[in-house]
Amino acid sequence: MGKVVIIGAGGVGNVVAKKCASLPEVFTEICLASRTLSKCEQIAKEVKKNYNVDIKVEQVDADNVSELVTLLKKYKPDLVINVALPYQDLTIMDACFEAGVNYLDTANYEPKDEAHFEYSWQWAYQDKFKEKGLMAILGCGFDPGVTNIFCAYAQKHLYDEINYIDILDCNAGDHGHPFATNFNPEINIREVTQVVRHWSDGKWVETPPIIEDGSVHFTFDYPVAGPRESYLLYHEELESLVKNIKGLKRIRFWMTFSQNYLTHLKVLQNVGMTRIDEVDYEGCKVVPLKFLKALLPDPGTLGENYTGKTVIGCVFDGKKDGKRFKKYIYNVCDHAEAYKEVQAQAVSYTTGVPAMIGAMMFLTGEWKGAGVFNVEQLDPDKFMEALNKYGLPWEIVDFEGNLPE
Ligand code: NDP
Repeated sequence: MGKVVIIGAGGVGNVVAKKCASLPEVFTEICLASRTLSKCEQIAKEVKKNYNVDIKVEQVDADNVSELVTLLKKYKPDLVINVALPYQDLTIMDACFEAGVNYLDTANYEPKDEAHFEYSWQWAYQDKFKEKGLMAILGCGFDPGVTNIFCAYAQKHLYDEINYIDILDCNAGDHGHPFATNFNPEINIREVTQVVRHWSDGKWVETPPIIEDGSVHFTFDYPVAGPRESYLLYHEELESLVKNIKGLKRIRFWMTFSQNYLTHLKVLQNVGMTRIDEVDYEGCKVVPLKFLKALLPDPGTLGENYTGKTVIGCVFDGKKDGKRFKKYIYNVCDHAEAYKEVQAQAVSYTTGVPAMIGAMMFLTGEWKGAGVFNVEQLDPDKFMEALNKYGLPWEIVDFEGNLPE
């Protein structure tokens, strides 16, 4: 049915490649390209063993537009699935535009020298992509991604108007390391050390970062995982949901962190190891956070001994036919089961499966359009069905718990 080029052979790329290969009737040709060819080759070997499917591999520097264009002209894919790092979003979009290829990613663009999260850089491609009849699908992982789709589903089927959304992301797993991050450490630490923002009554409200005094947190009783301390955090899907969900008065994002994780992070921050500027060390230029990444476990290798679950979902509070009520839509994913299936932990799994499903929605014509789209702007129904079918089943329940005012 369609050809894809997957860019990025990390934790998420591994899952995307395997899930696509498991559906040869949809993904008729797959090329996996990344900076380090040996990582692509290792994944290709496992794909062959698991699914008896041959995928192509290529080395590419995704910071280099002309290298990317050459790759895309060689393979002529219908779609690029970008699961490299957020730094590469714009170069990959430029190359897609030049080569006439559609685009999908799981994280918004970030400049390397500033931990700054906003869609404006990618939304700026709207006219270009539209004029050329190309589609760019932004943020199709779990959060952003499935959480946005849950919002689109609630807007379409459950409510006339949604007034309050709380997105709650819990990782109740144990990887056995004193400190590790579940996706790229550099990207993860940049995200969790920033000033927190949520949206309330038409404006952004700032609160202290999660490791500082005054950070906002409360105990939420998650299904399966039980009560966990959950911290207010800025997350990129808030920006697009504020624009695309009708009647919204407030939207917040919460993530669980253990005291152990916060203590490690605080020490690393206090000694300067999370800095993203260059430091002179004995004549060498070193970016402390990049050096820290080299020391920490590779998230792609955490899977083997990971136990426990992730529980991620959205609590909605809104009205239908004049009646106000709350609903909770969530998914539970098991680290060990994810490892058994695709040799990855649940955070890579919950990101890679939606990226594959988004690609499938595009290739099967369920999602079509010209321009740049956040996933809540697309029809959620077939995507929600596919989540149940391909490894991320969800539940909808009446919500009777408590959330902070
Ligand atoms: P990893 O660091 O494990 O993988 C990233 C891969 O991209 C690596 O293989 C890396 O190559 C490759 N890469 C980096 N720079 C380049 C470059 N210039 N050219 C070519 N390849 C490059 O990260 P993850 O797999 O954990 O994360 C992948 C993406 O998924 C990230 O953007 C992350 O933000 C996003 N994500 C989204 C989530 C969501 O729910 N929406 C949740 C988790 C992650 P090399 O191996 O050589 O370093």
